[in-house]
Amino acid sequence: MCVLNTESVWKSTARLSDGREIVYFDERPSAGRAEAPDLRGLPPAPNGGVATEDSALRWDPLAGEWVVIAAARQDRTFLPPPDQCPLDPSGPGRLTEIPASSYDVVVFENRFPSLRGIWPGNVPDMLGLSPHGAPPAGTLAGSRASVGRCEVVCFTSDHDSAFASLTPERVRTVMHAWADRTANLGALPGVEQVYCFENRGEEIGVTLSHPHGQIYAFPFVTPKTARMIEQSETYSSNNSGANLFDDVVQREISVGTRIVASNDEWIAFVPEAARWPYEVRLFPLRRVPDIPALDDRQRDAFSHLYLDVLRRLDRLFDKPAPYIAAWHQAPVHDGAARARFGAHLQVFSLRRAENKLKYLAGTESGMGVWINDIVPEAAAQRLRDAGEA
Ligand SMILES: [Zn+2]
Repeated sequence: MCVLNTESVWKSTARLSDGREIVYFDERPSAGRAEAPDLRGLPPAPNGGVATEDSALRWDPLAGEWVVIAAARQDRTFLPPPDQCPLDPSGPGRLTEIPASSYDVVVFENRFPSLRGIWPGNVPDMLGLSPHGAPPAGTLAGSRASVGRCEVVCFTSDHDSAFASLTPERVRTVMHAWADRTANLGALPGVEQVYCFENRGEEIGVTLSHPHGQIYAFPFVTPKTARMIEQSETYSSNNSGANLFDDVVQREISVGTRIVASNDEWIAFVPEAARWPYEVRLFPLRRVPDIPALDDRQRDAFSHLYLDVLRRLDRLFDKPAPYIAAWHQAPVHDGAARARFGAHLQVFSLRRAENKLKYLAGTESGMGVWINDIVPEAAAQRLRDAGEA
């Protein structure tokens, strides 16, 4: 196994011409990367920080959830031809979002963000909100500035590549970037949770085909995370302090039929009650609250196992799998939740057969009741069989 310690990533930071931050993560010393100027002369990016008609958080009192209104994003770039990809490095006569002429991994603030207005020194209005960022119980309607931050992560400068084609060394660099952004965005005022994710495939609405992911810094704890925390609290008090995340992993190990792959540090399995046709959760065997808490051994082992799982997904059908990869991380400030939370990666494909996608229809979209056409144990068997010959 290739061991690359965290000191072998070189980080440098710059500003784009409209004021947005860009951060390079390089695998070797990269003199001058951040010095490349953004020659586009873009008008200053709006600061955000105030609720407007087309950009705000609105409270849904029936669901008890925030909804992000982000109408201004309608104008964003949609599937440009490959020679106009904004995520490629800049070259002669061609200026992109990345001023440098090459890069390994780069992160920058999204030009068309759903959430914005969080930066050091700007303290968003948290008046009357709970520590999790929700309005007081009994609140009927509410609107607040859609503060937060949205960043783009380019995994490689190679436009035609994919995450599954990265080297383990590159995955380590991406993890370094995820950890760095989770720690740095989590330290900004008003941020409650940092979410790293990747949407892959036009089938699920990806607007740029260049291999990239996104990072959202939310000003509230997301509904899924809040629910997991609630469940783990209840489980713990009903089971003499036992940990829900630990026990779920232990159960998968002892049952065994849903394990897809594993190594010394991680296990990948199809959840017992999988919602998606092909859904895999990757848990570290030593529980941590978030990506920054993963040590070198865990990061190395993850990079190998995750590539293995993604390649299995791609081998299921004749074409690459459209998928969503979602990092579940503990909220930034809730100490009790952090002590109990088990960070993990959930990756699921929407393809259920050669030419069929799983759509969220009446039961799922209307009632939140999932119907899965594939028995999870059968999905796990197919994924085991899809291993490298
Ligand atoms: Zn590209």
